[in-house]
Amino acid sequence: MFFVFCVFIVPIIVFVILHLMTREKTDNDMQKTEPMEMCAFCQNDFPINQLLEKEVGTYGRIYCFCRECVEGLYNEFNNIGVKTGE
Ligand SMILES: [Zn+2]
Repeated sequence: MFFVFCVFIVPIIVFVILHLMTREKTDNDMQKTEPMEMCAFCQNDFPINQLLEKEVGTYGRIYCFCRECVEGLYNEFNNIGVKTGE
């Protein structure tokens, strides 16, 4: 039962955090010279070619995730004990 709880709660938390972050993003990216993009998760700037861009939800919003955050999520996911399909 706890596993099921985690599987549903984790994506919801992630989505809420991302949603809040996108709201705060206003005019801060006006003065960028290089194609840098902020990781939606840790909010550090990275060159865009080091980020994973993902369309989230049905609204077509694009979020960028850095390698560390993706790996962190992957490890978290594994720790939950979800079995991936073969
Ligand atoms: Zn990150």
